Amino acid sequence: MSTRTTVITGIGSLVTNDPGHGTGPLGLLTDAAVVIDGDTVAWVGPAAQAPAADERFDAEGRALLPGFVDSHAHLVFAGDRTAEFNARMSGQAYSAGGIRTTVAATRAASDAELEANLAGFVREALRQGTTTIECKSGYGLTVEDEARALRIAAKHTPETTYLGAHIVAPEYAEDPAGYVDLVTGEMLDACAPHARWVDVFCEKGAFDGDQARAVLTAGIERGLTPRVHANQLTYGPGVQLAVELGAASADHCTHLTDEDVAALAGSATVATLLPGAEFSTRAEYPSGRRLLDAGAVVALSTDCNPGSSFTSSMAFCIAVAVREMGMTPDEAVWAATAGGAHALRRSDVGVITAGARADLLLLDAPSHVHLAYRPGVPLTAAVWREGVREV
Ligand SMILES: [Zn+2]
Repeated sequence: MSTRTTVITGIGSLVTNDPGHGTGPLGLLTDAAVVIDGDTVAWVGPAAQAPAADERFDAEGRALLPGFVDSHAHLVFAGDRTAEFNARMSGQAYSAGGIRTTVAATRAASDAELEANLAGFVREALRQGTTTIECKSGYGLTVEDEARALRIAAKHTPETTYLGAHIVAPEYAEDPAGYVDLVTGEMLDACAPHARWVDVFCEKGAFDGDQARAVLTAGIERGLTPRVHANQLTYGPGVQLAVELGAASADHCTHLTDEDVAALAGSATVATLLPGAEFSTRAEYPSGRRLLDAGAVVALSTDCNPGSSFTSSMAFCIAVAVREMGMTPDEAVWAATAGGAHALRRSDVGVITAGARADLLLLDAPSHVHLAYRPGVPLTAAVWREGVREV
């Protein structure tokens, strides 16, 4: 069956993330062209050698890169925490407990309201170049509310994560062991059919190392792959647990010992850094430089959620990572595209190579470096998702 082909030509600077295609880890090509066939990239190379196609799009010298892969987001929720943010920026400290506010609003919301919110955020992210986005449950914390969050999320992304262990549900405040039993039992049974991943907030005030191990192990036994909220607010066992259990990703990684860094560097577990959280809680940033120098694979994601990081902008995360976390612009762009794909164990996104999904971001700029060089400036010129021009 033949599909419609489009050649994007006149690409001033092309980030392929395939060193076989061009220079450096980004596999940079100048004066390049890309051919899309249906939902797939069919050809990548010098513009002068581009094959003919049904349609032609002139990039006019601008930069093309893979659509962003946001591997950490919490998008199924209702309610508003503006007042909490305002109070925090006026001097109050962040704690995991604020999640309860969103849990109450989410439980009270209708399915339609939750889905409209989620669809709005997915669209908002897409307008900024994000073509793959992970989505967690974790604001329901009952069997039915967690399962419905994942049912709704699964309509919008295949990257769904069961996070019943976000915090201990308020009903179980005096019986956290009972809540872990629920999360690893009846709630897991209801949620596993709608989830690809299992996650846990391993942190003081949420779940300790033993509880986190129980949650992740139960998820693994049900066919889910682990990822962990680890070492965000304090040093702790999360990173070591993630590596030990073969998690795809340890997320946050803000407070790391040398042993934690070495464990990540010696494993396939990606260190996913979420600078929006430190920005929005006025906290110390994780060190991307330290992880990269040790040899760890680093991803950047938004952690988009209403409490601690209410941004869907991967460009913002890139700019902060460069300014505050010791990463070069090339490293930050790689982390926001190929890094996110590694964190989701996807080889079909985060790259522009023949056979990859045609998820493309055209910048209103001549170079990907502008994502860090021009912070806060909307640089999205066009976005293709699965070959379809969406923006
Ligand atoms: Zn998170």
